[in-house]
Parts: sequence; C-alpha cells; structure tokens
Amino acid sequence: MANPARPLPTEPVPVTALKGVGPRLAERLQRLGIRTAEDVLLHLPTRYQDRTRLTPIARLQAGDEAQIEAEVVGSEVAGRSRRFLLCHVADGTGVLTLRFFHFSPAQQQWLCQTGARLRCFGEVRQGQTALEMIHPECRRIGTDAPPVTDRLTPVYPTTAGLQQFTLRNLAEQALAQLDEFSLLPEWLPSALRTPFQLPPIPEAVRLLHQPPADTALAELESGRHPARRRLAFEELLAHQLSLRRLRERMRRQAAPPLAGNGGLRRRLRERLPFSLTAAQQRVLEDIDADLSQPRPMLRLLQGDVGSGKTVVAAFAALQAVETGAQAALMAPTELLAEQHYRNFHHWLGELGVEVAWLTGRLVGKARRRLLERLAAGDIHIAVGTHALFQEDVAFAALALAIVDEQHRFGVHQRLALREKGRQGDSCPHQLIMTATPIPRTLAMSAYADLDTSVIDELPPGRLPVKTVVVPDNRREEVAARIRQACRSGRQAYWVCPLIEESEVLQCQAAAVTAERLTELLPELRIGLVHGRLPPNVKEAVMATFKRGEFDLLVATTVIEVGVDVPNASLMIIENAERLGLAQLHQLRGRVGRGAAASSCVLLYRPPLSDVAYRRLAVLRESCDGFEIARRDLELRGPGEVLGTRQTGEQTLRVADLLRDQDLLDAARYTADRLLRDHPTCVEPLIRRWIGSGARYGEV
Ligand code: ADP
Ligand code: MG
Repeated sequence: MANPARPLPTEPVPVTALKGVGPRLAERLQRLGIRTAEDVLLHLPTRYQDRTRLTPIARLQAGDEAQIEAEVVGSEVAGRSRRFLLCHVADGTGVLTLRFFHFSPAQQQWLCQTGARLRCFGEVRQGQTALEMIHPECRRIGTDAPPVTDRLTPVYPTTAGLQQFTLRNLAEQALAQLDEFSLLPEWLPSALRTPFQLPPIPEAVRLLHQPPADTALAELESGRHPARRRLAFEELLAHQLSLRRLRERMRRQAAPPLAGNGGLRRRLRERLPFSLTAAQQRVLEDIDADLSQPRPMLRLLQGDVGSGKTVVAAFAALQAVETGAQAALMAPTELLAEQHYRNFHHWLGELGVEVAWLTGRLVGKARRRLLERLAAGDIHIAVGTHALFQEDVAFAALALAIVDEQHRFGVHQRLALREKGRQGDSCPHQLIMTATPIPRTLAMSAYADLDTSVIDELPPGRLPVKTVVVPDNRREEVAARIRQACRSGRQAYWVCPLIEESEVLQCQAAAVTAERLTELLPELRIGLVHGRLPPNVKEAVMATFKRGEFDLLVATTVIEVGVDVPNASLMIIENAERLGLAQLHQLRGRVGRGAAASSCVLLYRPPLSDVAYRRLAVLRESCDGFEIARRDLELRGPGEVLGTRQTGEQTLRVADLLRDQDLLDAARYTADRLLRDHPTCVEPLIRRWIGSGARYGEV
C-alpha cells in the first residue's frame, strides 16, 4: 500500500521500452505528450465502446454502437464513380448490410465468403432500405468463437497515423507492468486520500483503461467517476505544489523595501480631479503593505474595464520614487503605452517626477539619450512597450515593475522585465494588472504564484452600456443611430476587427469602411486610425478625436485596450462573432466612461451558429466582466479564456478546471499537508505531471 517513505523513484521508463515502439512511433506518441510508460498510463480514454455483449440484429437501432455476430449471406461491389463493397450478413434474427468504401480484393474474398462467420463492431445507420454499418471493425471467427471481452474498450485521443489499436496495446503492456515494475508509484498517503474518497492510483488507472463491463459508463465519460477524479485531483495537486515551490523560491529572494514617506502620493491625491473609490484605496493599502517588505511583491491586480487601474499604478510607482528608486510600466501596445505616458506625465510632471516613454519607435540619438538618463537614474518612471526589456536598456535602480494587461504578455516577458532590476539576490517588486476578469477558481490555479487584489467597483456615476446584437445587413439603421448620437454632440467608434490574415489587408478593410461610411454619413467628420499609419499621424488622429473634432472614429482593434475618450457614447463593432468575449467587453469598455448613457452595437455576418449567437447574447445580458468571463469559460474552456491555448502554457492533461472546480480546494489543502508531513513526495508528483523540464521551472 501507500508508503510515502519509499526511496525516490528510479528513472522513468521510456516509452521505447515497450514492445513495438520504434523511433517513428515514439515520435508520434510524443505529439500526444507521451514520452514514458507512465505517460501511457496517464493518457486517458475520452470514451469507451461496449464490446462486452453481442446484439441480435433485430434489436439494432440507428445510432447505436453495437457488436454483432453473423454469417455472410451474400456480397456485391456497387457504385459507378466511387465503388463500394456491400456485404450482407444474417444472424437468424435479421439481416444487416456492411458497407465498405476502402477494400482490397483480398479483403473482399476473405470477408465476404458466403457462409463465413463474422464478429463486427460499428455504428448502426439507417441505409436506403435497411440498417447498415459503415466500415465496421470485423474479424472472422471459426465455430469455436472466442468469448467476448469482459471489459469496456477504451477510445483514446490520438493523432494522425496512430491507431486506436496501437494505443490500446501500449496501455495493456504498461498495465501489465504496473505492479511488477511499480510504474506508477503511489505518492499519496491513504490518510490524505480517504477524506476525498479517492482510490489508490494503480486501481484508478486500471479501471480507467480497462473498465469492467458493469462500470457506469455515463459517470466514466463525464469525468465524475472516482477513478478519474483521483487522477484529476493528483494533477491539480501537482500544479499546486509546483506553483507553491516556485512561489517559495521567489519569496526567498530579497527586494528593496519601499516604505516611502507618502509625500508624493499625498500630493497626487490632492491634484486628482476625483477621489479614489473605496476599492482603489483598499488595493493601494495591499500594495503599500507589500512594497514596504524586503521581499518581492508579486501581486495581480484585477479590475474590470474602466475601474481605474492606471491611477493605482501611478500611486504604486510613486511609492518607489519616494524612496529614490525607479519604476517601470509596461503596456502591450504603443498606443496604450503612449496614453499611460501622457496620463502619468499629466499627473506627476508637476510633482517633479521625471516620466519617460520608451517604445520600439524611439530610435537613434533620442533613444541613446533616454537610455543614458535611465541608467543614470535621472528618469524616475519609464513607461513603454516590450521595448523596455531589450538588452541595452539598463536601470539605475528599478524597484517596481508594473505590467498592464498581463494576458497579452507571456510569463517570460514578465520575468524579463523583472530581471532588469535584479541586483545580486535582490529583484524588483511586481504588479500585474489585468482587465481580463479571471474567474476566482482559474485565478487560483493559473496565477497561484501571485497574490490577488480586485477593484470590484467602478468610479461613481457610470451607466451600464446598452448592447444590441444586429445582423450586418442592417447597416442603414446603424448609420441612423450614429447620426443621431453625433447630432446630440456625442462621438462614436466603428471598429473593424481582424478578418484578414495580414495587418495590411486589415488596415485596407478599415480604410474601405471609412470611405463607405463617409458616403453614408456625409455630414459627419470621420477619422481613421489603424496600425499601419505613421505614429505621428495615428497620434494626431487620436488627439483630434479626443478633442471632439471627429464625430466618428473608424478603427482597427488598436483601440482595444485603454483608450479613454469620455464623450464617446456609441460603439459599433463589426464582425463581432470573430472576437472573444473578453475582447468585445474591452472594446465596449471604450464607451460608458462619461455621464451620458452609452450603447454598443455588435454587428455580425449571418448566418450565425447557435453557440456564436449565445456568446454574443452574453454581452447583451451582462456588463460585468467577471460574469462575462464565467460564461465565456463555460462556452469555450479555460485555455482560451486565459489566452494560454496559443502559447501552450498550462495545459492540463486530465483535470478540467470547470468540471473539477470542487477539487481545487482539496488540492490546495492537500498541498499544505504534503509539504509539511511528506516532503519527499512532492518532487515525484511534480515530475509525474509537469515533467522535469517543468513548464514553470524557470519562472
Ligand atoms: P482601466 O482600469 O480600464 O485601466 P482607467 O485607469 O483607464 O481604467 O480609468 C478609466 C477612467 O476612469 C479614466 O478616465 C480615469 O481617469 C477615471 N478614473 C479612475 N479612477 C477614478 C475615480 N476614482 N473616480 C472617477 N474617475 C476615475
Ligand atoms: Mg487600463
């Protein structure tokens, strides 16, 4: 039984040690993330076939997956352009046709010999005249037919060129070695398992690969079976442990304590035309407490679009400046970096704080000059894009790195910026800001290395944005709305999201739209902004719009994050069905910033699938970023919500954050116990699930 005190595991058994696995198969298996015999056991079926029974032909129904045993009564090759083989079989209760599109003459002979007995498994369909099976798996059997299997047959996720048969065979081999070579040692003491009614791991794995005939299929396939939950639990636990360890490692590092006397912050408060919301103040207290410690702050600041994160960043930066240190603020786009720079400069310039702006556009002498001042410590706060962490950028004393819209950056970019401030053992504090509302459960698993603060209230006086979903053949109506809004002194956005592959084409599309709208609405002043415009033109257009000298701004998604024009009260988004809900919510957040009631029109190109319509409807029904993210999660799955699907980070093999939410608490609790009472089990668990090249290893 579980013996957590056992010695460290022997080296993992490579999958090539299993019979029949040569380099080519190994390469294909690797595509499924299978490198070791242990991985074979953790590659779980997505569903099962029931081959434990024989169904009389008379009882077959279209749609069933069934196994029959019958005798060939005749066959023919039919079809003109595309030939197919029909094999008619009978079992005394009825007749069934087997239909094959690919067949060799040899197969035909062997299979369809009249009088031959076949055992076939396949899906039953309604054919033109009678029931049939398309390409069933068949084998010929003699008079002494072998007994049917007493186990359900697993169906595995697979990849091109890898047969179910092969995967089943490998799983069988690995299971056979389970006990003999202790392929999958139990690292969870039973005392930690029993409270959650989780079976031992060898038992769980055996059941999942070869379930007995009477196993509740629905429970198995929905992932609610205790055997499956056992593995999901262990995987979540391994992630917890890995993040916990990572966090420990971070906490052991030193950071400059930034107590500050509060002088600059007090003066900023006095200068601001508004007072901070209670939520902003609470978050600033969290940050203040963290920054004054000699350990690096690692804080995730979540706040819905428009909740006022920028000003919080400014206060945090001032806390660094008050102690004579530097801060950096990194934004995902030039436009956003520019806007942050302007805000910071506006708020802080008169306090004697030097704010500089560093993006990829800054080149030559100007850039060199700025880098010198940064390295000399003459600049207190640097605002920029990822240009901030290019190699030749050096800070005199970077003590706080702030990253805005974290989900756009990978973990590694976030770390690169932190490295900028490393001095010996000491590294800067980090504040990560995101408007992508991350549901609580996800935040805890994906960002378990971070503390979290939430701005859960909007500045006073904001009205919810009324949202409608409209097919794009009703443009005239939409144009009328724009006309009306602009006549009453308001401004509007028209956003053309990426539908072309290339940025150039996308920008052209925006230009064409702007022309069409100019014809449709000749009395309006229409501006156009997209990523291909020279920076100074882009800036000039935005500034003109901000001054109210354009009524309508046609834009690509460059305006997605952060742009702030309170007088704009109407947002039109074309091809809305192509965008993620979080992105739509962000775009919509460009309006509803002033006192006027605002609205948003989501234009889609019909026909729209049911799911696509339901997704857009979520936005119509809610203005709450967290609620939207929760619904998005239900409709799309965690990888996409976190934006990690593309980057390949954080993929869970067995657990499903939505389905297994209730296991997260258990995993966290168990992680504590394990670290405290069974520390030797920690490393093997992490190694089993996350691998030795731990994806979080260098974080
Ligand atoms: P986000 O959290 O989306 O980054 P911003 O920081 O851009 O939001 O803030 C949105 C707008 O709200 C800005 O115009 C900002 O100046 C304003 N704002 C921020 N905090 C407050 C507040 N406490 N009261 C009123 N307006 C505020
Ligand atoms: Mg922002």
